[in-house]
Amino acid sequence: MAIIELKHVHYAYGVGTSFEKQALNNISFSVDPGDFLAIVGHTGSGKSTLIRHLNGLLRPDSGQVFIHGKDLWSQMKDRRSVRFQIGLVFQYPETQLFEDTVGKDIAFGPKNMGLNEQEVKQRVQEALAFVGLDASYLERNPFRLSGGEMRRVAIAGVLAMRPSVLVLDEPTAGLDFDGRALILQQLEQFRIKSGAAIILVTHNMDDIAEHAQRVIVLHEGRMVLSGTTASVFSEADILKQCGLDVPQITRVLIKLKERGLPVRTDAITLEAA
Ligand code: ADP
Repeated sequence: MAIIELKHVHYAYGVGTSFEKQALNNISFSVDPGDFLAIVGHTGSGKSTLIRHLNGLLRPDSGQVFIHGKDLWSQMKDRRSVRFQIGLVFQYPETQLFEDTVGKDIAFGPKNMGLNEQEVKQRVQEALAFVGLDASYLERNPFRLSGGEMRRVAIAGVLAMRPSVLVLDEPTAGLDFDGRALILQQLEQFRIKSGAAIILVTHNMDDIAEHAQRVIVLHEGRMVLSGTTASVFSEADILKQCGLDVPQITRVLIKLKERGLPVRTDAITLEAA
């Protein structure tokens, strides 16, 4: 069974005012355990609005969001627990660190879940290991770490809740090449070892080319493409209309080919010409 399923979701901001904006228009898709899904689209295409529907931060005007087969808004009494199952990592999550030690910061989520001390401790150690930091970090002040380390601690805070789906909004923004590669490797390890699904909102074409199995493309609130990464990136004309440029598309296609994925090679030669 899908972990998350959206059926015909519509959402508008400022309904009934002169600022009314239809941000999502008839969005349907599902996410299975172990998926690695990327969501792409221009600024303003609806990506942030969409991910806020996945764990109940926003309620659709119409349409449904199912979590493990249950309608989030009509069948689930304990909607708070969904925040633990569907972990959201917002942009620059390190800005939300607030405790004076790394250990306390990562423990915040599991403590809120009502787990006992021993279980919390175990979750913290496990999450720290997932982001590649050793136990010596537990007593360190998070604000004295490097930017990349702070980001990893912030992500560990969400991993410690052992979500079935981890949703990340631009997790590699502002990091250098090595920092980006490290975080994505760790997310991949987490996905493989835990069986969780990952949903990545990103402008970084390398992140998509190297990791995503499936891609959803949003344009003005509509889902204009959805499918395997290879099939979506073979639709160069539609992607161009959505604001991606030819070098970006070509770069992804070449990398997908290196991954042995079945891209339409005419798309590469056509675009490279
Ligand atoms: P993205 O994440 O792809 O940049 P958003 O989901 O943030 O897109 O925005 C989708 C549309 O909704 C945009 O036109 C944006 O201006 C509008 N929007 C987003 N948040 C609000 C808000 N709080 N109030 C009014 N309009 C908003």
